[in-house]
Amino acid sequence: MIKTEKVLHLKSSRGRKVRVVREHYLREHVPCYSSLCQAQCANAEGKVLSGEVTHYVMPDAGVARDFMEILEFREIQGIVFTQTACQAVQHSRGRRQYNRLRSLLKDPRHHCILFANEFQEYSYCPREKGEPQDKWQTRCVYHAAVWYHDHLAGLKPVVMITEDQTAVAEYSSLNCGVYVLCTQEYLQTFWPELQAALELYCSIAQSLQEKGSEGTEREYTEHLPAEVLEAGIKSGRYIQGTLNVNKHRAQHEAFVRFEGSSNKSSELNSDVLVCGGKNRNRAVHGDMVAVELLPKGEWRGRTTALTEGQGEEKGDETQSQPMATGRVVGILQRNWRDYVVTFPPKEETQSQSRNSQRILATPWDQRIPKIRISTQQADKLQDHRVIVRLDSWDSTSLYPNGHSVRVLGRAGELETEVQTILIENCIHVPPFSEAQLGEMPVSSPESPWSVDPAEVITRRDLRQTHLVFSVDPRGCEDVDDTLSIRSLPPGPRGERLELGVHIADVTHFVKEGSLTDLEARARATTYYLADRRYDMLPAVLSADLCSLLGGVDRYAMSVMWDLDAQTLAVNKVWYGRTLIQSSYQLYYELAQALLNGEEAEVPELGTIIQLRAQRDKGGALELEGVEVRAQLDEDRNITALVPRQPLEVHETVAECMIYANHWVARKIQESFPQQALLRHHPPPRQEFFNQLQDSARARGFTIDTRSNKALADSLDRAVDPRDPLVNRLLRVMATMAMSNALYFSTGACPVDQYYHYGLALDRYTHFTSPIRRYADMIVHRLLTAAIAMEKGAGPAKALASNKELEEMAQQINNKNRAAQHAQKVSTELFQCLYFRDKDPETDERCVADAVIYTIRANGMLVFIPQYGLKGAVYLKNREGQVVSERQDGGCDWQTGSLQRYLDHITTTTAAGTSTFNLFQHITVRISVQLSRCHSDTIRLEVVSNRPHQAPETQVQTSQPQGARGRSQLVQEVVRQAEEASQQAEEKRGRASKLSTEEREFRQSKCPNLYSLLEEVRELALLDLAAYCGAFHGLNQHADRPSGLTI
Ligand SMILES: [Zn+2]
Repeated sequence: MIKTEKVLHLKSSRGRKVRVVREHYLREHVPCYSSLCQAQCANAEGKVLSGEVTHYVMPDAGVARDFMEILEFREIQGIVFTQTACQAVQHSRGRRQYNRLRSLLKDPRHHCILFANEFQEYSYCPREKGEPQDKWQTRCVYHAAVWYHDHLAGLKPVVMITEDQTAVAEYSSLNCGVYVLCTQEYLQTFWPELQAALELYCSIAQSLQEKGSEGTEREYTEHLPAEVLEAGIKSGRYIQGTLNVNKHRAQHEAFVRFEGSSNKSSELNSDVLVCGGKNRNRAVHGDMVAVELLPKGEWRGRTTALTEGQGEEKGDETQSQPMATGRVVGILQRNWRDYVVTFPPKEETQSQSRNSQRILATPWDQRIPKIRISTQQADKLQDHRVIVRLDSWDSTSLYPNGHSVRVLGRAGELETEVQTILIENCIHVPPFSEAQLGEMPVSSPESPWSVDPAEVITRRDLRQTHLVFSVDPRGCEDVDDTLSIRSLPPGPRGERLELGVHIADVTHFVKEGSLTDLEARARATTYYLADRRYDMLPAVLSADLCSLLGGVDRYAMSVMWDLDAQTLAVNKVWYGRTLIQSSYQLYYELAQALLNGEEAEVPELGTIIQLRAQRDKGGALELEGVEVRAQLDEDRNITALVPRQPLEVHETVAECMIYANHWVARKIQESFPQQALLRHHPPPRQEFFNQLQDSARARGFTIDTRSNKALADSLDRAVDPRDPLVNRLLRVMATMAMSNALYFSTGACPVDQYYHYGLALDRYTHFTSPIRRYADMIVHRLLTAAIAMEKGAGPAKALASNKELEEMAQQINNKNRAAQHAQKVSTELFQCLYFRDKDPETDERCVADAVIYTIRANGMLVFIPQYGLKGAVYLKNREGQVVSERQDGGCDWQTGSLQRYLDHITTTTAAGTSTFNLFQHITVRISVQLSRCHSDTIRLEVVSNRPHQAPETQVQTSQPQGARGRSQLVQEVVRQAEEASQQAEEKRGRASKLSTEEREFRQSKCPNLYSLLEEVRELALLDLAAYCGAFHGLNQHADRPSGLTI
């Protein structure tokens, strides 16, 4: 080892230059991490570059610093990052960018490695006196490239890429086999088919070029240096928190939400208001910021007036009590993501680009400021939605600068809008790669998959001993859970039963840390949008090997209870890997028929129902239940969603799954008290129930919220025999008052907080759907480890630590929230697409019956059963007019006033007084407010203060039909979109069997109906909560993530 000195010139955070001398040790052996290594490098630790590429590519420091996004394309393989380049990223781009590079280097899905060139004795080159840093860095990388090429005995050409033209001229002809190219030429030469990379290159290069020509006039106050912020937060002078922009007043109002207990000033127990752009000082929604409070005399209140539509209104704003108000003094962490923007129409771009190439694009998310983008494609991009990334926001620039990444398509088209929803929710679901699919077992008609005899002897074989069956909706193809039940020989205490739950053994096929596993972990869940789904796992698993179909051998993870036949008390539980063959695939109606005694093939099934009864005693809540059932034709298309007959068996199956989840939770928590993945549901805060209680009282019901048992009982009693919607809406409100159930690691949470309020269970987790939830895969691995430990063997692989598990739990919680949100927004998209081309004045479909379920200061929230739609109805408009009822019940706008009461709202005009009561049926007109840059929105308007009289009197069925209406919307819109794309296809004169959209976006088309039903249920809970957000300001917790998933 040779000792030498390395001189670094660093910039301190105050901008002062510091000279640092470090001792630097050189070694002869530094791993090259190439599979072509000729010198027995110690490459075993870590990723190794494949030899199956045409060349290796080595970016110099400048390329790594400015064009990392291009190197992130998974298609570009064989990338060697030098230590020199990595350090340049660390020093000039900060921690966030450096961490991104490090995770790239760790991620086995990316074919890149780190070569520690500065520790390698023969590739290291000391900096010469007077040599500029960038020149030296480029020289270092070039030397590294030469060494690398020689080290591999010239087996692979090495291409160094740089933006430095003089380096290209200087080095390109020095060594045979080592090429030096500038980035653009490299992409054009080696990756001509990767057009997206080249476009991204041009976009970044353009943005870098423009950056040099910034103005000098200061628009904002400079941010304080990091150490000043840190000291200020410690002393309590500044407050640290996340910036939250009010979507409805995006330019004017934002709040800073505290992070943990960092707040020292005890008088503050609410958010800090930040008014206007200057005080926000370039902070973007989601950024972690430091704020300084303004003097009390300058404090202001939050706006409480309803803002109709999305317009930024000024004028007669009503403000609440003054609250802590501050200004942003520095940014602790940027949380920028990819944003979808819309480019302005031509007229606007021309006036903007008179002096420059810069264009102001409007983000889809209203909370994000306009972004300045340098482009030469302004004409091409107008009225298109484009993904952009933010680069910088200097104090001299009124708007942040960004560059375009990818064009999504023309605004307003179905595929563009769906992709927009995915990007805006940070959902990345590319098709599974060849490498990932390569890990999957083969199962095709030619070579069908079969059980492995070696595997069979390690499993409990239930094929001959147990009658295993599944209960699913008719036509279901992916069955991930099955049941078994049989009598056991009587024990000392009497008759015994054995109940078994058998779940697809997904983790047998997906090894921890494999490419498929990493992909599933990143996705965390299968995503269900209104018209499609994106699977978490490749179809060979979800639709075949992990589908517990009838008549075929399948691997399973099983939980089996030895129960007392009378009391159902548990004598013993067995957990383990099994081999099963399902005998029956029952669909719900058949199972119900069996239960009703019409056929008696599985008589023991009836006893399961009692489990639920037992849990009821403990206070389990039944919230909004599934109201519909999907009916399929032979091609598995949904032909109808019909009101569900109340099938007990559906609950029975769900009940067994809850039971299995509960017992697995007990098992893994006992085995790993500090590092098991559980799911808890915190008890709701009493004040959230106020609205529910007030509304119920209006109908003469009392809702007791002191415990979940009391709540469940009082909800059961709150039934209006004349209008079943009343009970349903009350349940929806109860659900909204509750928080989401969440995953957590047992070591990160006190035991008394493990409780699952909604299910009334002390411990709960997710075990029963590993095909579509990554949490269940983690739980399967934990259970496997617990079983191994019990047998005396240590776990095969070190378990995730409490900290790692908690991080994973948070990641999954975030992804679930994103999945729910995307689903909700996609439903709204379809609602808007459905109504967009209908004339609300003449089309009968735009007039519907609605029920008032919440009274607000300026109007009310209503539910439209026919379309499953929820929304706000305003009774007062911008001109100060109010809705007034005529003699015939019809309504029009007149000058007047508004008075709100607990259970009704009245308008008074010269013509008289009109009253709108809670739970009253009214008639509304549905129209769509179009928006070029944001999502379209549904608008509701009162037509009449009386129930809607449909043209041909429909018999009002007792079952609500919300989801049914929704499904019809989706079908119709998809049909329209398909027809449109078909026409476009025909125009292009080629008939493709599978559209691009189908190939790219619909990784699998057949819906899992069990999930679909669950999804419908969750959706019914979600919508309402979201619309409450529209009444911002009135409800302080409107932005709280809502919707309940058990
Ligand atoms: Zn080597």
